[in-house]
Amino acid sequence: MTFPSFKELDAVGEAYAKNYIRRSYTYGSSAFDIDGFARSLGFNVIYEDFAEQDRNKNGFCADGITPLHILKNGKPVAIVFPKKTIVLERYLLRKGEEKRRRFALAHEVGHPLLDKMTGRNTKCCFHSEFDMDQTLTMDSIQRLFSMNEVCTSRLGAAILMPRFMVVELLKKHNDGKPLRCYDGNVFASEDRKKALQMADCLVVSFAAFVNRLRELNLLDYHPIEEYIAESIKQGESI
Ligand SMILES: [Zn+2]
Repeated sequence: MTFPSFKELDAVGEAYAKNYIRRSYTYGSSAFDIDGFARSLGFNVIYEDFAEQDRNKNGFCADGITPLHILKNGKPVAIVFPKKTIVLERYLLRKGEEKRRRFALAHEVGHPLLDKMTGRNTKCCFHSEFDMDQTLTMDSIQRLFSMNEVCTSRLGAAILMPRFMVVELLKKHNDGKPLRCYDGNVFASEDRKKALQMADCLVVSFAAFVNRLRELNLLDYHPIEEYIAESIKQGESI
């Protein structure tokens, strides 16, 4: 089973983003309208209190078959949501969770779009393969599943933070140059401030934005010794 390369995922994600911006006339807005994008693809986004065993789960893209455990009147129930429903954890609506909510939504929209690219329904394929091939070990299933998750997140990030938007922000905030970064993802305070501002423009977290800069090869890496040398030079003012 093969997955698209990260390069392909970046290209497809960016093309989806551009296509939506053109269709929705949202040129010039700094953050991508991920909610409008989901709606434009026919998805209904709803919010529920999850009661899944895996507490890390905060999003679910329904396939009309797989049930999701949620709380109804304080009791856990398994519900099969109709296809084209994206269910997000209700806590993501809280103040301060907007960046996380947007990333979770981008990831869930990414699932069916990745399936389209690979020409399969991940969930069904996953189950049927498990049933048919008994030699498939739990390890290889997990590997397959996590690869699917990694690709989905990459596609989601490429839609939420397409290259052209990131490049545009670097033009405004850093003279169009890649952002200077020292080994271990250490930033000088000025550059950290810039990264924070750019992340705010896209309404994504600092970590998600820095990760995206790295994915797009837009970090200018320097040895950490340079950072130390700079700090010592400025030592008198500390
Ligand atoms: Zn997922």
